[in-house]
Amino acid sequence: MKGESKLEKKQFRAESKRLLDLVINSIYTNREIFLRELISNASDAIDKIYYKTLTDENLVFNKDDYYIKVIPDKKERILKISDTGIGMTKEELEENLGIIAKSGSFAFKKEHEIKEGFDIIGQFGVGFYSAFMVADKVTVITKALGSDEAFKWESTGVDGYIIEPCEKDSVGTDIILKIKENTEEENFDEYLEEYRLKYIIKKYSDFIRYPIKMNVTKRKLKDGTENEYEEYMEEEIVNSMVPIWRKNKNELTKEDYENFYSEKHYGFDKPLKHIHISVDGTVRYNAILFIPEKIPYDFYTKEYEKGLELYSNGVLIMNKCSDLLPDYFSFVKGMVDSEDLSLNISREMLQHTRQLKFIAKNIKNKIKNELKNMLKNERDKYEIFYKSFGRQLKYGVYSDFGANKELLQDLLMFYSSKEKKMVTLEEYVDRMPEEQKYIYYAVGETNDRIEKLPQIELVKEKGYEILYFTEDIDEFAIKMLMTYKDKEFKSVSSSDLGIETCENEKDSNSEYEGYKEVFEYMKNVLGDKVKDVRISKRLKNHPVCLSNDGEISIEMEKILNTMPN
Ligand code: ADP
Ligand code: MG
Repeated sequence: MKGESKLEKKQFRAESKRLLDLVINSIYTNREIFLRELISNASDAIDKIYYKTLTDENLVFNKDDYYIKVIPDKKERILKISDTGIGMTKEELEENLGIIAKSGSFAFKKEHEIKEGFDIIGQFGVGFYSAFMVADKVTVITKALGSDEAFKWESTGVDGYIIEPCEKDSVGTDIILKIKENTEEENFDEYLEEYRLKYIIKKYSDFIRYPIKMNVTKRKLKDGTENEYEEYMEEEIVNSMVPIWRKNKNELTKEDYENFYSEKHYGFDKPLKHIHISVDGTVRYNAILFIPEKIPYDFYTKEYEKGLELYSNGVLIMNKCSDLLPDYFSFVKGMVDSEDLSLNISREMLQHTRQLKFIAKNIKNKIKNELKNMLKNERDKYEIFYKSFGRQLKYGVYSDFGANKELLQDLLMFYSSKEKKMVTLEEYVDRMPEEQKYIYYAVGETNDRIEKLPQIELVKEKGYEILYFTEDIDEFAIKMLMTYKDKEFKSVSSSDLGIETCENEKDSNSEYEGYKEVFEYMKNVLGDKVKDVRISKRLKNHPVCLSNDGEISIEMEKILNTMPN
């Protein structure tokens, strides 16, 4: 290149060198995010020009003039990212690209005291250098708003950079990456592939507010033929721009949400319910959450990862942020977007901040309320939900030493002997006769089997309702609850049922006398298997039943015995 020898190569400052090394080798775990970073910078540059037009009456912002274009050239191994943003002066090139960890965008926000309405993403001043993860050489050609001169910045990484004047017609910036050659272990070709670039843009930058254009290959029928195709190039806008979560709820239909659910691959089913949240308080955030209808195929495996997608200003930060969901709501799918998050430098993980905790708590309550509403107003839907995920709620009651029982107890349902369908604890308690002391339940493998249990006869005859527990977790959860609306739970196989007729079981000495020998004999035969053999008044049609004295029921014992120590 002419005159290059005369140019003095400037060195990055020493600390910058070390930092650059860090950016290239350690900060990011995922190489593909370089595109997210460069597109975010382009979007920031357009935001800035937009801001200028608002504050300078000599300028107009014509929406169609502002876009980002991604242009791969496989033959030359060049990937170009162009924008029509504010550009950089020579000084700004020096400042922003010559000093690592210096963010012109951060300074811009400060200087103009921009708080709301703008989505400027930049803040750390390192994203740009992520380009060196995929490129041997990075060239920036830029012309600043209001300047007649254009400049070129070029660098091959740690050995420094040059800046020289160059030609550029319009205001804006081109970032030109010379993509690395493949090595034995690493493939860089993919960053020149149309479909791969499109995928990366969709994944991270789908909701950038300005159009991201690409020339894409299309196929059409050749003129005059019926099955011969020819390829042609067409410019396409790759990103969807306006995130659905920033739209007004009233403008969105059920289908819009369902499409979003399937586009995002949250599940193959249709969601049972969506929750659209916009909070504009101390921590601002938008969220769209879904309650799926069906259990994800891997839900009860170790592979299942709970979590919500997390966006910061429309840019994807994390695929599955697990801190946003408690375990008992792990079935919830969806996303959260907030402009108030404290990100760490790679923007891959965020610090465990107050803001995040606030959002998580908020979300938890919204989900609970939504489920409560569903239970109240859309009972059929709720029962479908409960069939899929009720177990999860019961685990929620049981885990953390019952810390969440208040939150979850009203959402529980069990099959009722009386109603022959699922009922809530509230419904049970509300129709309890006054003299009934306890909430009765019976444990068994299926409802049919429970129906045949001798132990339920007396309670049933008394006219009391019995809840059927057919899942392992049921009795454990209820033990954690202990009471519901001050009513204790009582297993029908417990020795003290709190019902008059059997109150005196233990004292039925007179009757016992006559059968003493039989009972002694039975006890001997059964040995350790039983503690005592007694006469019972709870039986109606059955000759015998098991009952237990202690806290742990026979069924719980069975489960505990199957657990690994
Ligand atoms: P950050 O975006 O966090 O500020 P970067 O390393 O990504 O950090 O970018 C550093 C700075 O370089 C930006 O703050 C901005 O001032 C400037 N810059 C980068 N890319 C562009 C661009 N396409 N147009 C204008 N300025 C840019
Ligand atoms: Mg940036």
